[in-house]
Amino acid sequence: MRILVTGGAGFLGSNLCERLVKDPGNTVYCLDNLQTGSLENIKELQKLPNFSFIKHDIVEPIDLDVDQIYNAACPASPPAYQEDPVHTMKTSVFGIINMLELGRKYGATVLQFSTSEVYGDALVHPQPETYWGNVNPDGIRSCYDEGKRAAETLCFDYNRMYGTKVKVIRIFNTYGPKMNPWDGRVISNFVNQALRGEDLTVYGDGSQTRSFCFVDDLMEGLCRMMNSGDTVKGPVNLGNPGEFTILELAEEVLKQIPGKSRLVFKDLPQDDPKQRRPDITRAGELLGWQPRIPLREGLERVIAYYRELMNKQ
Ligand code: UDP
Repeated sequence: MRILVTGGAGFLGSNLCERLVKDPGNTVYCLDNLQTGSLENIKELQKLPNFSFIKHDIVEPIDLDVDQIYNAACPASPPAYQEDPVHTMKTSVFGIINMLELGRKYGATVLQFSTSEVYGDALVHPQPETYWGNVNPDGIRSCYDEGKRAAETLCFDYNRMYGTKVKVIRIFNTYGPKMNPWDGRVISNFVNQALRGEDLTVYGDGSQTRSFCFVDDLMEGLCRMMNSGDTVKGPVNLGNPGEFTILELAEEVLKQIPGKSRLVFKDLPQDDPKQRRPDITRAGELLGWQPRIPLREGLERVIAYYRELMNKQ
């Protein structure tokens, strides 16, 4: 298989490349503009004969003959995607058009990394794929949310118009090794703050909930989706249905990293969803998938990763 991973130097992309190169029958092309991805994430992979890195922004077209395309390119943490909202929207919309054009030309299957953000500040809980969402089209999260929604639309329209092979998964909050310690997401922030003995920054009163999936579990679901039959197009939710308030998460982090850190409360960002938990019935039925690693265990692994990273610096 010739496999293209866009955003391949990012958190999810690099974990995926690492998994795909293990099969010597695969040739993996990792494409990234390094806006939020890092060469550090793929340093070991660059030594392998079946891995190549191409520095490219998917907003611009590219011609590459491949069998499978995992479209993971897009900054995903709110501070990162809000830095240049116009480029974020272009990454989702122009990016998926460029990938779908490749899929159409070479008969490749295109798997789009969509997101729980398509549900916005959900009014249905937990969120099944049939829920259409509650998204603000004009807010500071819209560049990401609406871009990802438009990308889904394009996938299904290319499928209907040209028969392009498409698959869409909606990824809920995921964490694990290779997550940028500075990207501003809650788990990377809390763990790094606790490791430095700094206070943990809780936004709002911390009663908002999220469901956190360990990256290895997500990778298994992604690969099962890509290698499922052509009739399985999705969208399919992938995430861990274990739901925690941000306060509960902070307490668990402080339990695992005892020290002098306390909680400090900061303003809740605009349009921050109050409650999020995936309904993963469809992933179970279509892919036989469910996550296995509970938050406590995944946190231990991510804490070990960040400790090692700090020791290297
Ligand atoms: N959050 C927080 N402290 C932080 C970073 C995030 O309390 O230092 C909150 C944030 O407001 C949100 C939740 O944690 O309610 C998850 O935020 P993240 O940016 O990780 O992901 P997303 O909002 O996209 O789910």
